[in-house]
Amino acid sequence: MISVEEALEKILSNVSVLEPEEKPILDSLGQVLAEDVRSDIDVPPLDNSAMDGYAVQWEDIRGATISQPRTLSVIGEVAAGYISDRTVVPGTAIRIMTGAPVPAGADSVVQFEDTDEEVRKAAGKPLDEIGIGREVVKGSNIRRAGEDITRGSLVLASGMVLRPQEIGVLASLGRANVLVIRRPTVAVLATGDELVEVGRPLPPGKIYNSNTYSIATQVRRYGAIPHILGIATDEKQELMEKITRGMDSDLLITSAGVSRGDYDIVKDVLAELGEISFWTVRMKPGKPLAFGILAGNGKKVPHLGFPGNPVSSMIAFEQFARPAILKMLGKTNLAKPTVSAISESRIENAKGRRIFARAIVRKRDGRYFACVTGPQGSGILTSMSGANGLLVVPEDVGIIEVGDEVSVQMLDWREEDQVAADCLHRRKAEIGQDHPHEGADSGV
Ligand code: AMP
Ligand code: MG
Repeated sequence: MISVEEALEKILSNVSVLEPEEKPILDSLGQVLAEDVRSDIDVPPLDNSAMDGYAVQWEDIRGATISQPRTLSVIGEVAAGYISDRTVVPGTAIRIMTGAPVPAGADSVVQFEDTDEEVRKAAGKPLDEIGIGREVVKGSNIRRAGEDITRGSLVLASGMVLRPQEIGVLASLGRANVLVIRRPTVAVLATGDELVEVGRPLPPGKIYNSNTYSIATQVRRYGAIPHILGIATDEKQELMEKITRGMDSDLLITSAGVSRGDYDIVKDVLAELGEISFWTVRMKPGKPLAFGILAGNGKKVPHLGFPGNPVSSMIAFEQFARPAILKMLGKTNLAKPTVSAISESRIENAKGRRIFARAIVRKRDGRYFACVTGPQGSGILTSMSGANGLLVVPEDVGIIEVGDEVSVQMLDWREEDQVAADCLHRRKAEIGQDHPHEGADSGV
């Protein structure tokens, strides 16, 4: 048996960061920047007004107060998007809107509220003159050219993950496209004679194929593009064909057929198509795992073979496929977000494996508490649906007692996941099986 770390290390040493591609900025959300972005403009390009008001020369408004305003003649008006052709000279002002370039000659802007504009309007007086009722600090209400970004400066560094704010910054530079690391494509193949596609009637003895859907959406969630290859029956030729189709992708994930069952021919087919290692990983669930490099069409494609049990495959995905995808995407933080929590469950770890128990994590009084989501059988997919985290029991810890401190890998951080956890409890209560403190030792 190998450890989770050893397995992960081998997998990661066989995947590489993908090449850059040019994309419209709108489509680059979440991707890793593959260029240093410098600006060829100042942002903002010109000094402009931060307020609606009057552009003035500060010398003219020195000592102005409400009772002793300074009266200036208004020689024009300028709105955002236009440049005034007038120059502010002593004794004059130009009415200015937020964002409008500051006219020549002006050095300060006085906002409307510090003028008598309202009074004049109410009295029906023309706005050819304005009374300034306050001496603002010289230079007030002017946003300087380049105060956000100076021309020539490094704005975004290669390696950053693009979020909406970075995409906004790119737009503020006028960039329509950006160079980012390409998203990997991941082929997803379910195997097994017992599988039936969703949306069809369920014949006796069969089960619906759920793995394709959980795996494909995990692929998508972590930023890759799933290519669904459907179901291959436990028949060699068909399996061979479908796996070969998966060689167009950057990674192939198969589910089932890697344990010791008689009909598990996936192993044989994979061994024919490339170099394959079958590992028993010191973890629970997800112990049997295949990893290999398939060769064909002059290309080498890494392959992850997950166990068929729906929970096992999802957890194996989190531990092994997620970091592989993140690495291909150019991301450097590959670890699952983890919190320290107080266990509300007693968990036995008799066989010295690393247990990933599905858990509900809640925050109370500034601390996290983690409670296992009832029965932990690796076929019980609803226990995954009820969980927002995976409580990690290290391989060298024989027992977790209620009150012990544990690490929990967070599956989600969002509010609605709490709702999903509460929903599981409601559902279990309805069918009389609400055991929030139940141990995690049954067939995980
Ligand atoms: P195996 O890894 O082939 O031994 O399968 C382990 C268990 O997972 C069996 O009960 C299978 O029926 C089940 N299983 C395999 N593939 C899927 C799938 N795509 N969706 C749901 N369950 C599956
Ligand atoms: Mg099988």
